[in-house]
Amino acid sequence: MKVRWLGSAGEVGRSCVEINIDGRLFILDCGIKLSGEGTYPDFSDVDISAIEAVIISHAHLDHSGYAPYLYHIGYNGPIYFTKPTFELALLLQKDYIKVQGLEGETPPFFQEDIRKEINRATTLNYEEKVYINDDVALTFYNAGHILGSAKICLDTPYGRLLYTGDIGSDVKTLDPIKKNIPGVDYLIIESTYGMKKDVHRPMEERERELIKVIQETKKKNGNVLIPVFAIDRAQNIMILLKEARDRGEITQPIFIEGMLIKANDIYDNYPDWMNKKMFNMFKKDNPLASPIFREVWNRKKIIQMNEPIIVVTTSGMMSGGPVMDYFKSWASDERNSLVLVGYQVEDTFGRQILDGLREFKDEDGNLKKIKARVEWIEFSAHADHPSIVEYVSAFSVPPKKVFLDHGEGEKLTELCEEISKITECIIAEPKVSYQLGEEEVAKESKPAQKLLYEERVPPIQCPFEFIVTTPQDKLFKNRAISLIENSKEILLISGYLDDSIVSFIIDSVKKGVKVKAIFRHITRPGNKKAFKILRNNGAEVRVNRECHARFIISDEREAIISSGDLTRDSFYDHFEAGIFTTDKETIKKATAFFYQMWDQSIEGFIKE
Ligand SMILES: [Zn+2]
Ligand SMILES: [Zn+2]
Repeated sequence: MKVRWLGSAGEVGRSCVEINIDGRLFILDCGIKLSGEGTYPDFSDVDISAIEAVIISHAHLDHSGYAPYLYHIGYNGPIYFTKPTFELALLLQKDYIKVQGLEGETPPFFQEDIRKEINRATTLNYEEKVYINDDVALTFYNAGHILGSAKICLDTPYGRLLYTGDIGSDVKTLDPIKKNIPGVDYLIIESTYGMKKDVHRPMEERERELIKVIQETKKKNGNVLIPVFAIDRAQNIMILLKEARDRGEITQPIFIEGMLIKANDIYDNYPDWMNKKMFNMFKKDNPLASPIFREVWNRKKIIQMNEPIIVVTTSGMMSGGPVMDYFKSWASDERNSLVLVGYQVEDTFGRQILDGLREFKDEDGNLKKIKARVEWIEFSAHADHPSIVEYVSAFSVPPKKVFLDHGEGEKLTELCEEISKITECIIAEPKVSYQLGEEEVAKESKPAQKLLYEERVPPIQCPFEFIVTTPQDKLFKNRAISLIENSKEILLISGYLDDSIVSFIIDSVKKGVKVKAIFRHITRPGNKKAFKILRNNGAEVRVNRECHARFIISDEREAIISSGDLTRDSFYDHFEAGIFTTDKETIKKATAFFYQMWDQSIEGFIKE
């Protein structure tokens, strides 16, 4: 196995990593760099016909923006996302075409390429494992960075590789990043805030500071302008403002404008991808649709309002967008405030202001002084230096090699120095091919079977445990996967199955576990697919139209009897309830019942 960076080595932007497994290529992320040198990943020497799959970690343009280009140049294979990432990425990709047009540039891809991408897209949940190839399996894990953001885990014949994409810490709307994924051999991790001095202040402190600026500006009768990125920063700032408003701490009218409004709609679709607090908030009443946020219909009118207001709008680094009109009208008045809340990349107007620029050209080209108050309160969605080091330290067995990308200069060297204390650390260089895994594998005739399973569930306290699925509780799924992963000899399954679980079952078959599964029917596409995959991989499968019982038994040791099927719906979306048991007598009876049904089931046949 080889790994090579087509972008994002030694830089922030155009993330794109090529994994080469015996000549088959897997592309992790395919992004665009918005400023500085080199805009797109370098595919000049990549054999497009060898690409087996494209996998996107999250929607930010520097990770997803260039994916349609691959369809433009003839790639026609699958592309994997989480569902929120898919929707948000499409929004940004379409916008990129539009912006290129406005700037008089020819975009690198067109709407028809996005259509092809949509046709070939597969969306997965977190911690669903899918064989994307005969011997390569993909699992997404929560990265805690933006809505839908995922780490990409590839199980390959040469070991387990984990690519973090961007990882977050302390993001208001999300659950924290998933740590200590077991059995990781190779880790590729981002380094945006790699320097030792890159330490974020506690979130509450930053929130209080923003509210204070807003209050002080109101006292002076001034306006507050907050430039934001359309995805995630906008929503986090809006929720923060709403909470402050509910507490009576701010009273000014709040106006919103720009692409963030479209992104807000997508957020409303996915409360179950957020943390519990946000889930409850969205279920009750979408905070982003609160009447306290007013959409701007007439910008000129808003700019000239004669009461102090707050405007939240794009673009976040002031490289264009509605924010520039507000800025040009308000910047020369010392009563107003400009609050930058995101990372400001070099060469952007936002960065120049942070670096001390205090002049700008107004509409008519006249040079004017920036007299407004300028504040930088960074609500970063990226992990800081201590959080990255802590993340790497959290592996109970450290990865053999750690590669650093998505960072610049000293960020990389200082982080590398720190991680080298834990394990071998390499700063990825552009277009260099790194060999992985073969040395270890060559020593043994077969890759060593090691423990790759995580502790999904706590040990049970009594022989019967009540298990459920709700939008916020996946205990049924976790128990089911854990039961399958820990089976040693025989696995008996009855009910509906779809392809969301078969990868775990195939892993058991490969381990030598005997699997017998009774399907209720094999007419729906998901069930049909699962039936075929299981049969082709050595499981025994039968069909019984009368079988309405849903249970799963492992080694006369553990069983789950529940309303839930082994399907995506039952694992993630429905309300399901049942019993997990280790009671010998119950398992014995269930086993006897299984064989009674098995004897009355038919082989089943799918026309190819
Ligand atoms: Zn990102
Ligand atoms: Zn990024």
